[in-house]
Amino acid sequence: MNRGTVCLTFDFDAISLWIARGQTTPGPVSRGEFGAYAIDRILGLLRRAGVPTTFFIPGHTLETYPAQCAAVAEAGHEIALHGYAHEPVSTLDRDAELAVNRRSAALIERLTGHPPAGHRTPSWDFTDNTIPILTELGVEYDSSLMGTDFEPYFARVGDQCDPDGPFRFGDASPVVELPVSWTLDDYPHLEFVRTRELVMPGLRDAEAMFARFLADVRYMADTVQGGVATVTLHPQVIGRGARMAALERFVAGCRELGVAFERCVDVARRVRPGLS
Ligand SMILES: [Zn+2]
Repeated sequence: MNRGTVCLTFDFDAISLWIARGQTTPGPVSRGEFGAYAIDRILGLLRRAGVPTTFFIPGHTLETYPAQCAAVAEAGHEIALHGYAHEPVSTLDRDAELAVNRRSAALIERLTGHPPAGHRTPSWDFTDNTIPILTELGVEYDSSLMGTDFEPYFARVGDQCDPDGPFRFGDASPVVELPVSWTLDDYPHLEFVRTRELVMPGLRDAEAMFARFLADVRYMADTVQGGVATVTLHPQVIGRGARMAALERFVAGCRELGVAFERCVDVARRVRPGLS
C-alpha cells in the first residue's frame, strides 16, 4: 500500500497578516516581523530533515523581505500565491481579485523565473471568481478548500447555493484542489489573538498539537491509498522557541509512519491525470 504523502506548507504572511486586520501599529507589526526572523531557522530544520515544502507568500512579503524569500527559493522550496496584502478575497470584486493575483504572480515569476503553479487564498476565504481567475492565470492547483481530508479533487465552478432548494453542484475545473483544514493548521491551535470583537485563545501545547496532526497522518497512511495530508504552518507561529523542536519531532514521526514529503506542485502534477 502506498502510505501517502505529507505536504508541509508555510504561509509566510509576515506583516501582511496584521495589515489585513487594520493593525498597523508597532506591536502587531512586530508579530509579523517575527515570521521573517524565523525563516532562517525554519530553512535550517528543513535542510537537516531533507523535507521539500511549499511556501505560500503574499506579494507584500515578497517585496518587504526579498532576502528571506530568495533564501526560500534557493533552498528548493516552492513559492505559491497568497494574495498581495493578505486581502480576504470576498471583499474584492472580480477585477480586484484578478489584479491582486496578477501582481503577486509577477513578483513570484521575477524571483523564481517561472509563474506560480499554486495558490492559497488568505484565511481560506473564497469567491465564485477564484477558480475562473486561477484558470485564466494558468494556475494548476489551489489549496484552500475542505471538501475532503486526504484525497485531492478538482475544484468546481458554477455552484449554485439557494437556501430554498437543493445545492446545485457546478462542473469540475482543471484546477486540482489539495484540501486543507483548520484541524491541521498551527494558527488556531497556538496563536493568541485578542481584538474588540473576539478572543482566540491559542497557546496550546505544541507537542499535543503535533500529536493530533500525527494521528491524522497515521489514519491517512493506514486507510487511504496514496493519500495527501496538507499541513499548514506559519513562520510567525511555529518559528517560536520550543515549537521548532516539536516540529522536528513531528517530521521524524511522519518518517516512521512511512509517508513521504512532497511539494504541493509535485503532488498536483502527479495526481492530476488520475483525477476525474
Ligand atoms: Zn495567510
